[in-house]
Amino acid sequence: MDCIFCKIIKGEIPSYKIYEDEYTFAFLDINPVCDGHTLVIPKNHCTNILDADSKTISHVMDTVKLISNHYVNDCGFAGVNVMNANNEAAEQSVFHLHMHIIPRMANNKDHMFPASVAKESPANMHKILKIGE
Ligand code: AMP
Ligand code: ZN
Repeated sequence: MDCIFCKIIKGEIPSYKIYEDEYTFAFLDINPVCDGHTLVIPKNHCTNILDADSKTISHVMDTVKLISNHYVNDCGFAGVNVMNANNEAAEQSVFHLHMHIIPRMANNKDHMFPASVAKESPANMHKILKIGE
């Protein structure tokens, strides 16, 4: 499969590795929005959280937590945003599940989220949103 993140895991494409364990791999984003912008990916390929199994998501989030604690406790950052895009409509551009860790400094006032996303939704959205009703 022609997946750049699978190639990074295999070492076929270079990366600035932050951490690796049996299930996950973490490396710096090549086009960072801030210093320390990190991507955490599972070693087994899946597209995003929509097709990933819960164990894979759990391993990825364990690594997100480990690295986030390291950045805050050991590296001088004051907090992190954790971001994730699923499918093209949500602006996913690499189709191998990844979580973005965006480390934040205490005095940084930049907003992480857009002021608004277009208020469009499927018909009857409010009738169908709740699971099991
Ligand atoms: P997304 O838009 O959420 O799918 O994020 C994909 C991210 O992968 C972007 O922030 C890219 O800058 C990053 N990216 C793409 N190719 C590479 C690469 N070879 N090494 C590191 N990061 C990459
Ligand atoms: Zn992949």
